[in-house]
Order: sequence, then structure tokens, then C-alpha cells
Amino acid sequence: MTRKTYRGPLVDVSFNGTMCRHAGECVRGMPEVFDAGAGPWINPEVASTADTADRLREAVSRCPSGALAMVEHPED
Ligand code: SF4
Repeated sequence: MTRKTYRGPLVDVSFNGTMCRHAGECVRGMPEVFDAGAGPWINPEVASTADTADRLREAVSRCPSGALAMVEHPED
């Protein structure tokens, strides 16, 4: 599986399912973005403020496998 990008208003999140170890750190860290039962299961739309974008960066940084990565929007 290749890396797929999920877009949000401030930041995007990319995910490579073949790297995922199903540790669940993402779901525990920010369940309003990472919901295994939803489609799409990653919804960065929720991170629409500076604070929530920071929480999302933190949740992604705890992914132990490298499956998740932040994609920062360019400054304008
Ligand atoms: S934190 Fe990373 S390895 Fe764990 S379930 Fe989420 S994407 Fe997969």
C-alpha cells in the first residue's frame, strides 16, 4: 500500500497502512481525528485551530511505526 494523504485546513496527515503496527497511539491521542470505524478513518478537518493542529502534531509524533506523518502546509 502506498502512502495516502488526508487533507485538513491547517495541516495534512499522511498514512502508510503497511507500516501501521496497530498500536492505537493515534486513536488514544486524538480520537476526534483518528476513528477506525469512520470513513475516511483520518479526519484532519477537525484540526481547524492552532491548538487542535498542535494536538494533532503531538498525536502523530507518538506513532511508533512511522505509518503516520505530518504534511505541513506551506506558509503564505
Ligand atoms: S499510532 Fe501509528 S502504528 Fe499505531 S495505529 Fe496509529 S498509525 Fe498505526
